[in-house]
Amino acid sequence: MQPLHLYNTLSRKKELFEPLNAPYVGMYVCGPTVYNYVHLGNVRTFLTFDTLYRYLTFIGYKVRYVRNLTDVGHLVGDGDEGEDKIGRMAKLEKVEPMEIVQRFTNDFHTVMAQFNTIPPSIEPTATGHMVEQIEAVQTLLANGLAYESNGSVYFDIETYNKRGGNYGKLSGRILDDLLNETRELDGQSEKRNPLDFAIWKRASPEHIMRWNSPWGAGFPGWHLECTCMSTKYLGKQFDIHGGGMDLKFPHHECEIAQGDGLTGLDPVRYWMHSNMLTVNGQKMSKSLGNSFLPAELFAGSHYLLEQAYSPMTVRFFMLQSHYRSTLDFSNEALKAAQKGYRRLANGLRVIKTLDYQPDDSVTPSDDKQQDIRQAVQQFYDAMNDDLNTAVAIAQLFTLLKYINMIYLNQLQSATLGEEVFTLLKESFVTFMQDVLGLKEEGTSDQPVLEGMLTLYREYKEQKQYDKVDQIRSYFKAQGLAIKDMKHQIDWAYEE
Ligand code: AMP
Ligand code: ZN
Repeated sequence: MQPLHLYNTLSRKKELFEPLNAPYVGMYVCGPTVYNYVHLGNVRTFLTFDTLYRYLTFIGYKVRYVRNLTDVGHLVGDGDEGEDKIGRMAKLEKVEPMEIVQRFTNDFHTVMAQFNTIPPSIEPTATGHMVEQIEAVQTLLANGLAYESNGSVYFDIETYNKRGGNYGKLSGRILDDLLNETRELDGQSEKRNPLDFAIWKRASPEHIMRWNSPWGAGFPGWHLECTCMSTKYLGKQFDIHGGGMDLKFPHHECEIAQGDGLTGLDPVRYWMHSNMLTVNGQKMSKSLGNSFLPAELFAGSHYLLEQAYSPMTVRFFMLQSHYRSTLDFSNEALKAAQKGYRRLANGLRVIKTLDYQPDDSVTPSDDKQQDIRQAVQQFYDAMNDDLNTAVAIAQLFTLLKYINMIYLNQLQSATLGEEVFTLLKESFVTFMQDVLGLKEEGTSDQPVLEGMLTLYREYKEQKQYDKVDQIRSYFKAQGLAIKDMKHQIDWAYEE
């Protein structure tokens, strides 16, 4: 079997994944800035890294997964100027900044649970690490890689590069080009070089989120929190750092410079970036006005949505594309995903009820055994090939074909032999639930459904067809269907 390979943005190629300290893996993912509801684009990034976390754990690594909450320092416009995103909302709503933070942290947690993501091992906040950030600024000043200017402290790119640093190496940006891009910007006169970025900002009198520091009242630069929190919990150098593609520059570029400037080590071994969710080819974002919220999706209440879609449909939709490809939202794709997900969910429900039935008169089929073994193998190969969930899902459909054949009495489990039947059952359940995080959803109380089916059978025998129809409608209203088969009557998720 091919061992796990991951695409490293830094080297621009897929690399064999070798943790610094196996079986332990340290993984840091930039979390949300909690000033607003997370939109579906944000969700895509968090689902990608949830799936990676699940897979690493599944193949035996002991993962410490750190995903932060940005609750200070992220300025409107994503640069060094402007209001704090959280402070701005607090002023608009006339509430405490921490009320904004709490409200949207709660929402974020609810949404993450709806999408069946596993909470990280540590979820640190920027405001909770002010001491570490002030210390980091002091160290960078002491190392001669930062300078104070008018109560703010800036990272000195020129000195960093003169000493062997390579600012721009992650994003592939050339310093001269960057300079040309930045020169036009005004209001940066405090900086020695327009590329320098703030690691500490002086707070203007109206700025409400402020802390005392050796440089006066201020607040940390956005990039600094991730450097401090990742290295505090994962070490000066750690295995995986993730985030959306849009964070490559400047956020992650700055993290490399800061980490290197603080410890002399390149902080991250594998940089991973998930691509954007787009709408008509444009990045989904709040500022472009083309974003929608998970709640709108579940209710079907946004004008771009033709119907409601469930969390697992959306999770499946996202996993069907590779995380490094852009994914364009469309109703057609989501409807197809709904069908695909429900077919798999039916398989999941059914396989849990099927047991191996030995039959000495049946000769096991080599071809079928081989087909199942190969699909299982290819699932691992796909996941090991830079988390290719799209190809991995295709293998689930191969396995599903056999599950359905057994369920429909078209194939005896004995034809597979006990070992392969068990492989089929265990692989399907664990791949779907544990690795891809696709659980059954929407079932009301299953014993009630069984009771309704008993009634259905009785009414059918008594030829009370109006009652039979009523029961069918009852199932339909819950997105379920009665399957009236030759050998049994059962229910299923409507596909
Ligand atoms: P933010 O709260 O803006 O800092 O974003 C949180 C995470 O969502 C970051 O990792 C972003 O890169 C990611 N993100 C933002 N917009 C999108 C999008 N349209 N598609 C995928 N990821 C996104
Ligand atoms: Zn970050």
